[in-house]
Amino acid sequence: MASVKKQETILVVGGAGYIGSHMVLLLIRRDYHVVVLDDLSSGHQQAVDPAAELIIGDMADAAILQDIFNRHNISAVMHFAAFMLIDVSVANPSEYYQNNVFKTLFLLDQMRTAGINYFIFSSTAAVFGESHYLPIDNAHPKNPVNPYGSSKLMVERILADYARAYGMRYAVLRYFNACGADPQGRIGELHDPETHLIPVALQAAAGRREHFFIFGNDYDTEDGTCRRDYIHVCDLADAHLLALEKIKHEAGNVSYNLGNGNGFTVQQVVDTVKQVTGCDFIVQQQARRAGDPAALIADASNAQNELGWKPNYQDLTTIIQHAWQWEQSRVFRL
Ligand code: UDP
Repeated sequence: MASVKKQETILVVGGAGYIGSHMVLLLIRRDYHVVVLDDLSSGHQQAVDPAAELIIGDMADAAILQDIFNRHNISAVMHFAAFMLIDVSVANPSEYYQNNVFKTLFLLDQMRTAGINYFIFSSTAAVFGESHYLPIDNAHPKNPVNPYGSSKLMVERILADYARAYGMRYAVLRYFNACGADPQGRIGELHDPETHLIPVALQAAAGRREHFFIFGNDYDTEDGTCRRDYIHVCDLADAHLLALEKIKHEAGNVSYNLGNGNGFTVQQVVDTVKQVTGCDFIVQQQARRAGDPAALIADASNAQNELGWKPNYQDLTTIIQHAWQWEQSRVFRL
């Protein structure tokens, strides 16, 4: 009888969200069994590949977690479920610490009880706060300037302590600006409200918004608008899988910054959106948005050297084409 490769089962918490759902697609393509736990507070049931088992519920519900851990031989947990709006985190920090810190701690403790040791954590460039130099490497000081960034850094520190005390194995992946969509157009970014630059500009191009606002044109950058490192969501998913493989096969825990190392200004993104879509739209200048640093660019050389990670979609035009295909297709909509 031909030997059949034993498939591992991964629990993807927040697998109905933007980045989590792209992760699920990749895991399934690579022959993993996938269980998704999502409360659908911001994710979408239709975004979850039907090959995955979707459980709708709270990640801090002990009965749900115990049931998952009893029924499945989970080898690792990938955790994407978090609140991520900076201004809301400033206005309502309690909600952010409850959801992003307390519930993650709960999940980690349930994993410990169940003897599950491998954890892949979605972190963020927001853990660094204001940039002291560019590009931002792992050693850059971590001084978050909002509760969202603080909540993620707290979990990074909890993981380091859990690794020391309990032997937990983890990878921390700090995203710069996640963007783009599945190149086959099956899933993409869909937040309500949508605040991110590329989908907002695409909605303006599609005539779904009357205006597009540039928040601040007096920054110290080449054209005065903020500069960011846009990294394709599928490249992020690739890095997660490589990080999981690394911690499973080698000693030590890892933290990586994930970006392309290229910066594009808001104005450059808007120009590229107009060029890709062939649609003009009204652009108005507005005051700076609170908490926006002038420039955030990743030094991802550790991820490239240690994981062999190489982003496939570094070109801004390609990233925007994928997002535009998704924006137009309306495979599922709110
Ligand atoms: N931005 C903008 N207009 C918008 C949305 C975003 O000018 O409608 C700017 C925002 O101020 C920031 C950049 O685009 O400088 C990227 O913002 P986004 O919210 O996409 O990601 P962030 O960098 O905040 O994680």
